[in-house]
Amino acid sequence: MTRIDLRSDTVTLPSPAMRAAMAAAPVGDDQYGEDPSVNALQERIAALLGKEAALFVPSGTMANQIGLQLLTRPGDEVVVGAEAHITWHEAGASAFNAGVQFAVAGQSGLFTAEDFEAAFKPDGHVVFPPTTLVCIENTHNRGGGVVFPQADVAAICAAAQRRGGHAYLDGARLFNAAVASGLDLATLAAPFDVVSVALSKGLGCPAGSVLAGRRADMLRAVRARRRFGGAMRQSGILAAAGLYALDQGFGHLASDHANARLIAGRIAQTGAAIDLATVQTNIVIFRLPASLPEAATVVARAAERGVLVSAFAPRTVRATTHLDVSAAACARAADILAEAIAAG
Ligand SMILES: *Cc1c(COP(=O)(O)O)cnc(C)c1O
Repeated sequence: MTRIDLRSDTVTLPSPAMRAAMAAAPVGDDQYGEDPSVNALQERIAALLGKEAALFVPSGTMANQIGLQLLTRPGDEVVVGAEAHITWHEAGASAFNAGVQFAVAGQSGLFTAEDFEAAFKPDGHVVFPPTTLVCIENTHNRGGGVVFPQADVAAICAAAQRRGGHAYLDGARLFNAAVASGLDLATLAAPFDVVSVALSKGLGCPAGSVLAGRRADMLRAVRARRRFGGAMRQSGILAAAGLYALDQGFGHLASDHANARLIAGRIAQTGAAIDLATVQTNIVIFRLPASLPEAATVVARAAERGVLVSAFAPRTVRATTHLDVSAAACARAADILAEAIAAG
């Protein structure tokens, strides 16, 4: 039985050509700033994002945690969208490392400048935690891979900066947002002080994220990365995978998005609740009403037939398309999922 793994876009395996690029990469000790592949990747991503400098880090979680440490002080409040990765998927790191608390704005991950203003708390107040940062996730994972509308991004970041705060972009899937919106990466990143993008999601690399922003912030980020234990040595082996992926371009993500729509369309016929308007990229999230089996049952039934998806909540399932699943595999997976949902 061939396995069709839709649990995450992180499950991709590096292709033979990517491995060859990694094996051939020129490397050096990155702690001395001497790894040519890391340096090339950082320069390339900084240019793509329109930022002064960039820093290669081992994971998206570390990128987010460094971003928080750069832009907040302990006791500050950070405004985020509902169910943000930084609050739900980082093992409490934000409280543990940066000592910040969160205020949630809006619904389903998206929010507006008005929502931000409603959550904002001024500095210097005797009881309020000061809002010093707004964090936007684009695309928004738990919001179903939805692209954050850029007009709202611009208005929110401007409001935060007008009030003396900063703006951070969790752009683990910013490449998906660029392909889906037709906007380039620099445009998507422009309103933010600091931005992160992941290599290990849609681009299909084995590891790594890149943080980007002002040169002075990235110099501070080097020390924060060291404190987190994320300073590596001949990490050009990993950076080379990113350079290889960027050389291929990321237009292939359009196929992932089409495959997600294909799965979503099939799921919509089953009685599961799915908002097709949110299926803009490579993530399909659907909810199972009481008349249908629970998520764990659907996940187990699909797994018996070789289709792996994630239970996101007791009645919520996520399927994610990626480089290693074809349109034909997604069509087959959609049928198997539909049958898993339908069978009483
Ligand atoms: C995956 C992801 C991250 C973190 O990535 P890791 O490399 O797994 O630590 C951060 N933000 C979002 C939105 C993600 O989907």
